[in-house]
Amino acid sequence: MDQPGPRLPRRRRRPDVGALTAKRHTWQEAGSHRKRCDDCDLLAIRRPHPYARRWFTEWTRGEQSWNTPQGDKTPPCTPPADPA
Ligand SMILES: [Zn+2]
Repeated sequence: MDQPGPRLPRRRRRPDVGALTAKRHTWQEAGSHRKRCDDCDLLAIRRPHPYARRWFTEWTRGEQSWNTPQGDKTPPCTPPADPA
């Protein structure tokens, strides 16, 4: 007896970016189309979109990176924890 149960929508897990409580980045110009946050060392780079006629922003911090084409929002300002 097969009962086709209701299909639950699959939820994509998204990291909580904490937009409401996030601290503002302290941007410093770091060259053409680049800026870097003094507090959390996040680097924002404006790049021309490879297919669309517009710009997108890529953020990098250490080994992490975020991209507006993937729907990412500006990462929160989270200064690195004290080095061990
Ligand atoms: Zn920051």
